[in-house]
Amino acid sequence: MIDVNEKNVRKILEEIAPEIESLTGWDAYLDSLDVHVIKRKEYKDFFQKKYTSLGINIQPKNIKEKLKFFSDCDLYSIIITGEYFPAIGNGTLLIIPDNFKPENKDGLVSTLTHELAHRAQFANNPKFFQQYIDMGKRYHTGGYSNGNKDKNSKKLRQSYMTFVEGDTCFIQEQLKPLLFPNPKVHYPVSTNLTAIALLVGDIVFNKGNGLYEQMQRYTRGEKIIKNLYNLHRDRKGVNEIYKNFEDFSYLFE
Ligand SMILES: [Zn+2]
Repeated sequence: MIDVNEKNVRKILEEIAPEIESLTGWDAYLDSLDVHVIKRKEYKDFFQKKYTSLGINIQPKNIKEKLKFFSDCDLYSIIITGEYFPAIGNGTLLIIPDNFKPENKDGLVSTLTHELAHRAQFANNPKFFQQYIDMGKRYHTGGYSNGNKDKNSKKLRQSYMTFVEGDTCFIQEQLKPLLFPNPKVHYPVSTNLTAIALLVGDIVFNKGNGLYEQMQRYTRGEKIIKNLYNLHRDRKGVNEIYKNFEDFSYLFE
């Protein structure tokens, strides 16, 4: 069992950053990155900050909105092992060890590689980052789950998520043999049972726009990125998409 604390996490991030850079050409800007190792119950603060930092009003208008916000928050807080918030401060990386117990170093490196790839992805593509933020603001105009009602807004958000996660998962997969060939992670049983119950609620309640569907899209996005990568055997085509994502968003619908 490896102790997941901020000191260990920072040390590992320093080992991962040069490998992400040599694969993608992206600097991880570790010096300005905020790193927090938090308890599950502290997640709510970051979830709220994620929206308030964008100037999005998440005050629920009615009980249905309120329920949705807190059921999403509960679900995320129990499932997520790590998350990167590009708009909180200069970028904030969160790790929740209550949700996973790495049995060896590789188990922790795996999650950190994924989250640091998000950091590099947003920090090195400022135009894409701004477009992503604008999309989020548009989606949530008029309420936390308002975008679900607007077909175009929902479709565009899905494309962004599929691309953002697909590329990150592909980077993680490419670095696996080098950085974490043998990850061993134990997931607490309490997490699994509660997560299953919450996931069922998520699928019913969010109707194709919740965390479960989002996780399904990671795999699909990764396949699309892999195909693009294989065309040239390098990242040129993929990096091009960041320059003008909305011209290519149809690829990820
Ligand atoms: Zn991700």
